[in-house]
Amino acid sequence: MTTWSQQKKTALVTGGSRGIGAAVAERLARDGFNVIVNYAGSRDAAEALVRRIEAAGGRALSLQADVADPTAFPRMFDAATEAFGGVDVLVNNAGIGKFIRFADFDDALFDQHVAVNIKGTFNGLREAARRLRDGGRVINFSTSVIGLRMENYGVYAATKAAVETMTAILSKELRGRNITVNCVAPGPTATELFFDGKSPELVERMAKLNPLERLGTPEDIAASVAFLVGPEGGWINGQVLRANGGMV
Ligand code: NAP
Repeated sequence: MTTWSQQKKTALVTGGSRGIGAAVAERLARDGFNVIVNYAGSRDAAEALVRRIEAAGGRALSLQADVADPTAFPRMFDAATEAFGGVDVLVNNAGIGKFIRFADFDDALFDQHVAVNIKGTFNGLREAARRLRDGGRVINFSTSVIGLRMENYGVYAATKAAVETMTAILSKELRGRNITVNCVAPGPTATELFFDGKSPELVERMAKLNPLERLGTPEDIAASVAFLVGPEGGWINGQVLRANGGMV
């Protein structure tokens, strides 16, 4: 019998060009996965990451696709199947966040949050439910702000609450296929999404919200994903892991 650790698995990481997604792609490649690095606009960064992975002895492929587009995942699963034989792990990391109070939030931005964070995650989950290989793993991305309920995070956190709900329900629908579906919910993590529009004072204050008194790093979050998709994470299913240094 071939065990999990003996097989070469393939992971599709959405939003793998920058930030947390890039750290996840690099970590999973190091852990022995073939990696598909999805990106929307950051082609150079995605291709540079693929080269880094290959230089370290891994196998990777970059694929452009907007996760909000319903054709994105069928195309990416086709490409992954052609290159590596199938997909075992989907990391639905791509997401956007603008942190603006309700009074100033406009319609286009609201629709964009729904399109990328909810529809984009749904598009990935639907394709995974249809095509992920038995024994696979799905990781969605939420936020610890759901616990904090901070001002300015209303629309963003609401879209992530939908992601948490889809996580739990899909984990049940996949009964019988030995596929787990979990959510990682980072706290403040040092990426462009977090720093954008924040004063140094606010960054400092948010970094101190957890008792470890620092921001998370993309590598901290990648380690949580690596655990959940690795051989030791198989009994965790339908859960939300708040990776935040103890903030909430
Ligand atoms: P980031 O630094 O802004 O990077 C976002 C990534 O998502 C980029 O690779 C971007 O690709 C990709 N992306 C955006 N829209 C996309 C689309 N429509 N289709 C495909 N890819 C798309 O963000 P991050 O901080 O790493 O966030 C990653 C995830 O963690 C998100 O789901 C976010 O909500 C969640 N999170 C982050 C924090 C935090 O503090 N950073 C906290 C809690 C949760 P391109 O560059 O190619 O456009």
